[in-house]
Amino acid sequence: MPLNEKAVQEIVQEVMAKMQIAQAPTDKHGIFRDMNDAIEAARKADEVVRRMSMDQREKIISCLRQKIHENAEILARMGVDETGMGNVGDKILKHHLVADKTPGTEDITTTAWSGDRGLTLVEMGPFGVIGAITPCTNPSETVLCNTIGMLAGGNTVVFNPHPAAVKTTIYAINLVNEASLEAGGPDNIACTVEKPTLETSAVMMQHPLIQLIAATGGPGVVTAVLKSGRRGIGAGAGNPPALVDETADIRKAAQDIVNGCTFDNNLPCIAEKEIVAVSSIVDELMHYLLTENDCYLASKEEQDKLTEVVLAGGRLNRKCVGRDARTLLGMIGVDAPSNIRCIVFEGPKEHPLITTELMMPILGIVRARDFDDAVEQAVWLEHGNRHSAHIHSKNVDNITKYAKAIDTAILVKNAPSYAAIGFGGEGFCTFTIASRTGEGLTSASTFTKRRRCVMSDSLCIR
Ligand code: NAD
Repeated sequence: MPLNEKAVQEIVQEVMAKMQIAQAPTDKHGIFRDMNDAIEAARKADEVVRRMSMDQREKIISCLRQKIHENAEILARMGVDETGMGNVGDKILKHHLVADKTPGTEDITTTAWSGDRGLTLVEMGPFGVIGAITPCTNPSETVLCNTIGMLAGGNTVVFNPHPAAVKTTIYAINLVNEASLEAGGPDNIACTVEKPTLETSAVMMQHPLIQLIAATGGPGVVTAVLKSGRRGIGAGAGNPPALVDETADIRKAAQDIVNGCTFDNNLPCIAEKEIVAVSSIVDELMHYLLTENDCYLASKEEQDKLTEVVLAGGRLNRKCVGRDARTLLGMIGVDAPSNIRCIVFEGPKEHPLITTELMMPILGIVRARDFDDAVEQAVWLEHGNRHSAHIHSKNVDNITKYAKAIDTAILVKNAPSYAAIGFGGEGFCTFTIASRTGEGLTSASTFTKRRRCVMSDSLCIR
């Protein structure tokens, strides 16, 4: 088949990106063999950062924002190449989002009281060297987003990334330190080790210099951090339900849910993982999912086969996480049409493909008798993670009732889940949503400690 100009361009771009990946640095700035050396280097950088003006921090951050834009495609390709998860187009968007919408020093604010007895300020001060643990699902996105916030707060950071995403993480950490050096800052404001393991993580968690640990990942890591005896910011797992009631614009709900669910092949922790719909509109919703949103209706037999592959031996099969719908269908011998984006079926809330946080474009639909039943089932499916939940409804009383019952850090109404992180919604971006420890969507101010500064009987000039 003859290739047109566009196809040739795409092949050239892909080959060039692969060459860039092959030549990606593995041992330049901020990369150490030993975790203790990484922490010591970050401490030295911290001595410089501590004395920096806010303006100087901001210069480094804006240089880093530019580098993220310039390297968005290579970072996206590296992430997909190394982890086998997600898709390049959406990962490019995620990096642009990090560059544009992660708050910098403007997030560091002061509270002041002045009166007869003088002036009191509460300032946001740095912790020093922060320890950060990052997931393989958003590897460079989390490293870059964390670093912008932590540096804006006046800290340096040592990462213990997921071993499946080391190359991508190292590339991102190099960018951070190059940005710092170019903007007149020190090297090693972000550091990591060549081979992160649970042992290097334990060294980090127990190191006397590390006063704050930010953990982004599943339940295991958050529990480990909370047991460490250090202050921990725990951004844990989710299983966000999307509730649809009879007042919703059903056609739009179907479109929004599929767009959110399929974004980066369902890797984001905030992405729709199942639907709970009131019985009267289930058939209409299914109609729009199938006729307008490129969904594939899995038969009972196909659901069973999918369960066997995706939850092999009752455990989440990592080879299926972050894969697209057609690849997943291919794994059970179904050759789906090229437009298929999402696999759907109706089932009870206990169905293993519904109750488990799969991180794949598979959407089970749970039928509810009425709105109250829908809320009850959605709350059950969220498993008390208190992470994210979504609703499609025009009834504010219903929305309020659901929001109170499910009690999550994020609740998106009438939009795809990614509106929560500033993509098609108001507000800033983050890839660390502290669901378990309650900070919610983290930003620079989350990575600071409150310090009260009191001037007695002076400086009130009213
Ligand atoms: P994961 O839990 O397997 O790994 C996350 C990180 O924790 C990795 O660096 C891993 O090496 C480390 N880790 C795991 N167990 C540990 C332990 N006992 N001690 C120390 N470190 C440990 O998760 P993943 O597959 O990389 O990412 C997906 C999970 O993360 C999902 O559950 C998703 O919901 C969650 N997640 C949450 C957020 C959030 O902001 N709340 C963001 C992204 C991902």
